[in-house]
Amino acid sequence: MTHDPAAGPPCPVCGDGSWYPVMQARDMHGTEWFPIARCGSCGLWRTADRLAPEDLGRYYDYPGGRDAGRRFVGVIEAVERVLRRRRAGTVQRLRPRPGRILDVGCGRGIMLAALARSGWDAWGTEIDPQVAATARQSLGERVATGDFLTADLGPGRFDVVTFFHALEHLAAPRESMERAASLLQPDGHVIVELPNWASWQARWFGHHWLHLDVPRHRHHFTPALLVRMASDFGLTCRGVQHFSLEYGPYSLLQSTLAASGLDHVLFTRLLRPTGEIARPRAAMRLHLLLSPLLAAGLGLATAIELLAAASGRGGVVRVTLQAQAGGLRA
Ligand SMILES: [Zn+2]
Repeated sequence: MTHDPAAGPPCPVCGDGSWYPVMQARDMHGTEWFPIARCGSCGLWRTADRLAPEDLGRYYDYPGGRDAGRRFVGVIEAVERVLRRRRAGTVQRLRPRPGRILDVGCGRGIMLAALARSGWDAWGTEIDPQVAATARQSLGERVATGDFLTADLGPGRFDVVTFFHALEHLAAPRESMERAASLLQPDGHVIVELPNWASWQARWFGHHWLHLDVPRHRHHFTPALLVRMASDFGLTCRGVQHFSLEYGPYSLLQSTLAASGLDHVLFTRLLRPTGEIARPRAAMRLHLLLSPLLAAGLGLATAIELLAAASGRGGVVRVTLQAQAGGLRA
């Protein structure tokens, strides 16, 4: 692999345009490889394919991925709902009095609906029309379908703008941060939760790391680079939370399976190419055999992630930013 810089789009953090190829990573199905490059100036990593935005859509099509209603079955669905409502708790701890919130990439709007029930004026944007339609069932016209940069969000400013696992998917994270800052009240907050490329798990697993999630993740931020980008728009870091129960331990375990090669072997043996289970009894036996192992693995992964978090190297970070009095830096 060559390490000569290649011209590319301006870096969203520093504006430089020289990118060094650093690795290739596979998509979630393990079938296609995508190049990743590092900014020669600030060190930001980006997915450096040549896919047009309209080509990216198909990488979001997977069983359950676009289901406009219930995404998962039973227990997993219930767990997902609890975890989404915990995000509402995060917002309420930051601003105990109900205000006006915008969630960029709001999905089905579970967090927003919980906040709306507590008196918040809850708005969202969602790129997928079907998913947005589901969110509108509980939030009405306050959910805009399409790109955050061009979404019509009505007059008035927001107390909080959130990006939960959204910013890394956006083609233009810098412009998105700029718009978020411009939509804020003078003391408003921006919350960004995203994978941490400076985490222990990212460094251990490299191209096997689950949260690289190419080609859907366009940029691979560290908290420091995110804070640096946000500071250009008058936003100051108020804290970085390094432990995510929702994404941290699971990702550590899943990346271990991927790195060991086990994951793909199991799935290809038990599933047809369509995703249908080819050998249900074998799948059931394997499931019963693996469940205790997976539970033990998750316990261990949680302990390791807690240690990583205590060291400021958690797999997923939540960065809280606040607009400064005085507005944008000149
Ligand atoms: Zn850069």
